[in-house]
Amino acid sequence: MIKRVRFHGRGGQGMKTASRIVGTASFLEEFFVQDCPLYGAERRGAPMVAFTRLSKEPIFERGIITSPDINMIADETLLGDKSANVFQGTWEGTITIVNTHYPASHVRNVYGVVGEIVTLDITEIALNVIGESVLSSTAAAVVCKLTGMITESSLEKAVIKELSSINLKKELIEKNLQAALTCFDRIPETHPHYFEPIKEDKMDEIVKLEYADPRIGTPSVYAKGNTRLKKTGNWRLFRPVIDHEKCSRCRTCFVYCPHSCISIDEGDYPQIDYENCKGCLTCFYECPKKVISKDHEVRAW
Ligand code: SF4
Ligand code: SF4
Repeated sequence: MIKRVRFHGRGGQGMKTASRIVGTASFLEEFFVQDCPLYGAERRGAPMVAFTRLSKEPIFERGIITSPDINMIADETLLGDKSANVFQGTWEGTITIVNTHYPASHVRNVYGVVGEIVTLDITEIALNVIGESVLSSTAAAVVCKLTGMITESSLEKAVIKELSSINLKKELIEKNLQAALTCFDRIPETHPHYFEPIKEDKMDEIVKLEYADPRIGTPSVYAKGNTRLKKTGNWRLFRPVIDHEKCSRCRTCFVYCPHSCISIDEGDYPQIDYENCKGCLTCFYECPKKVISKDHEVRAW
């Protein structure tokens, strides 16, 4: 029996690490495991997916998970993003977890999700406990609990091992651990549903690699004005806000914005293009006067 977990998030949110934590925790529970991420061509903030498989038998499947048993959606703005396709292959047995403050019934009403839905605002927990919106340990903890097969102790060891391997400071690892255990406790004791064996006929096909035109793998741009057409403002979790009263007009933010979302107006003041600002907060960290604040975006949907 294989459990297949798919993580949807945005670059920088920690879903690759979450998939590794779940993989390591499963390994400690003596499962065979696989985990891998899949990124698109874009940078921080772009939709990405990561996968974990766990099984008591050797795993012969490879490649992406097209039909998940557990589907973690770590960023609610992905729900309505057709290109992210977060519900692809979900079925009656899928547990979809959405990181949101809305109740599960609201998600079902708006998106008509197949299978079970669990909602938990893991961003709020991460902000309160860690002080940052990095969701690797919190997302992993929710998934571990919902597998019904991973103990708190294995989760704890996996968080420490994986976060140490990316050289996180000891105090941040401690906070991540605390946030992870909070999430683990917030998910009710496992429901018998979570133990249901997976039908053998639902097995993913082993990915067959067919010939692809070399142009598919080369970074070619075939259309003009892509940034203008593709608005990335809804990728933002935090909105940078410039206090123009206190701004010294040094232009540091204008120079540092990696996405060219800051322009200088006629009065020599920086202005942020919120339709495209991804919320990377480089401007917030680099402003020498510290006159840029960050507001948590709360979107109604
Ligand atoms: S947060 Fe600041 S630096 Fe980042 S994209 Fe937005 S304006 Fe640019
Ligand atoms: S870096 Fe800060 S002080 Fe300098 S122009 Fe930008 S907002 Fe103003």
